[in-house]
This record gives sequence, structure tokens and C-alpha cells, in this order.
Amino acid sequence: MRNEWECAVVGAGAAGLSAALVLGRARRQTVVIDAGRQSNLVSDVIGGLLGYDRRPPAQLYAAGRAELGEYPSVEFRHGTVTGGRRVDGSLLLEIGGGEEICARRVLLATGMEYDPPDIPGLPPLWGRSVFQCPFCHGWEMRDKRLASLAAGEEAVHSTLMLRGWTDDVVALTDGKSDLSDDDLNVLRSAGVTVDDRRVVELIGENGKLTSIAFADGTRMERDGLLVEAPLRQRSPLAEQLGATCTPSPLGQSIGVDEIHRTEAGDVFAAGDACTEHPHVAGAIASGSQAAMIVVQSLLADEFGLPYPPT
Ligand SMILES: Cc1cc2nc3c(=O)[nH]c(=O)nc-3n(C[C@H](O)[C@H](O)[C@H](O)COP(=O)(O)OP(=O)(O)OC[C@H]3O[C@@H](n4cnc5c(N)ncnc54)[C@H](O)[C@@H]3O)c2cc1C
Repeated sequence: MRNEWECAVVGAGAAGLSAALVLGRARRQTVVIDAGRQSNLVSDVIGGLLGYDRRPPAQLYAAGRAELGEYPSVEFRHGTVTGGRRVDGSLLLEIGGGEEICARRVLLATGMEYDPPDIPGLPPLWGRSVFQCPFCHGWEMRDKRLASLAAGEEAVHSTLMLRGWTDDVVALTDGKSDLSDDDLNVLRSAGVTVDDRRVVELIGENGKLTSIAFADGTRMERDGLLVEAPLRQRSPLAEQLGATCTPSPLGQSIGVDEIHRTEAGDVFAAGDACTEHPHVAGAIASGSQAAMIVVQSLLADEFGLPYPPT
């Protein structure tokens, strides 16, 4: 083990790999620790990433790791950071198996856990024909028979979003019937059918939804279903290192300023863990930006460069 890494990047999804690439090119001693559970791995393809549209997520991450191999100052480790604390001005990370590493900076690129609704039959369809983001999956679902499952105001918004991709949309309220007359009128005038029955199961094959089963024993044939999937932090690591998590519309985000610094000045965050707009292109951009700031902060320590940079 080296005594102290200049930066430890926790997580090697789009954000962490992008950050590590910038750090490697800046010749910074960097360790990347990754548990290998990028949130979109279940999907067949990534939608909407320039230069990599509709190609498998796993290949993107493998290519990113291979690129890091070109930079001798970057070391990649498969594992989970199980805890963190401060010791004598350094940041100490515990890695499963009892190993500990020290770093001058930590960049959290840990992503988020997406929690789709707990419906029997949903897990094998998740990220394929049951999805939470029309921008990610809408193109693959174009002109198909779709449904949205949401309550209240969100039901109107998410259902109307789907109308951009197909004419055949059903709004499922799952027995809640909580839409106002105005909402119902808006949906009906957009050609959306509203169905108040309670959903009990999703039926599909090879990742493809075929029908939705209701409590009354009937089924409706559908090819795709939009659901809500709140996001949550994967671990208390940010707080352990002195950062704070704040409520956001999607879940609990790590609080960062405009240069990706958390409240603990030597801990940075990028990607889903600290954004209200989760998507791969955004994660790549924020990882890259955060790493540039990490380099600036190290240069400020070493040579007194202005920091934060102007
Ligand atoms: C099913 C699904 C499909 C999606 N499809 C698209 C799409 O088509 N297009 C699009 O733009 N966006 C899509 N998204 C959103 C996109 O996947 C995320 O915005 C993006 O992956 C965020 O990247 P990230 O690097 O922040 O996090 P992740 O990709 O989640 O990577 C975080 C990494 O950190 C690791 N990690 C976490 N904690 C620790 C720890 N303590 N120790 C070690 N490692 C740790 C994880 O195991 C993981 O490998 C989709 C999301 C989901 C859920």
C-alpha cells in the first residue's frame, strides 16, 4: 500500500471513470475503488449518450477501465468502501476485507440506488420494458402500447411525457382515483385512457412486458410501463467523511457547491449522488469537472495557486 493517495475515487460508473481519467492525465496518484453495480447495468443499451447511443452499458464501463490502464498513476480496485473517517488530516477509507487506504482528497462517485415499486414480476423487466425515464427508454418504446403508473400530479406529468413517444397511453392510478376533474380532462383531451384498477402483477418474457394484471382478475396487454423510482444514497459514506446529504426532489443528494465540493472541503462528489438530473452524459461531465477541481485544489496546496480557481 502507498502511504497516501492524492485522490481516492469511490465508484467507477460514468462519473467515477470520467474523473479518474482526468486525474490520471494530470499524473495524480489516484486509486479507484468500485463495487461494480452501476445503476443502468440491467439495461440492454444506454440511450442518449453522444458517440455511444444504444450500446450496452457494460461495454462503456469496460472501455473506461481499459483507458485508465494507460495512465500509470491510476490504480483500479474491485471492492466496496465500507466506511470512512478522518485521521491526522488525512481521509481514511476502509475497504471490505480489512484493508485501509489514506487519501488527501476523496471524490464520491457512488451513484444512487433506484427504488422502483414493489410489484410482483417487476424485477426482471426493470430497466428494459419497465423504466423511470422516457428520455432513456422512450425511443425504444416508440409507437408501442404504453402505460404509466403514478399518483396525483405526477401521474398527469409522466403520462403526458409518454405521449411524445406514442399515441397509445394508459394512465394507471393503481386504485387511488385521486385525480381531479381538471386532471382527468387534461389526460382525456390528450387521448389518454385513465384506469383506476389496482395493479397486482406484471407479466413478461425475456425482459419484455406483455401484460399488466389487475386485482379484479383481468389483464391489459402492454409493451412498456413508466414507473416512479425514488433515489437513495447507497451508503452513509458521505456523512462519515463530513459531507451532508440534503433532500432533493429525487431523494437525498450529497450537497455540493458549483465546483463539486462538499461541506468537507477535501471531499468532492459527482454524478447521480449529487444531482437532480440523473443521466449518463451529465455524470460524465460532472466527474470530469470535479476531477479538474481536485487537481486545482492539490496545486493550491503545493504551489499556492488560487483556489477555488477563478
Ligand atoms: C435502469 C436504468 C436505466 C438507465 N438508462 C439510462 C440511459 O439509457 N441513458 C442515460 O443517460 N441514463 C440512464 N440511466 C441513468 C444513469 O444510469 C445514471 O445517471 C448514471 O449511471 C449515473 O452514473 P454514476 O457514475 O453517478 O453512478 P453509477 O453508474 O451508479 O456508478 C456508481 C458506482 O459506484 C459504485 N459504488 C457505490 N458505492 C460504493 C462503495 N461504497 N464502494 C465502492 N463502490 C461503490 C457502484 O457499485 C457503481 O459501480 C438509467 C438508470 C437506470 C436505473
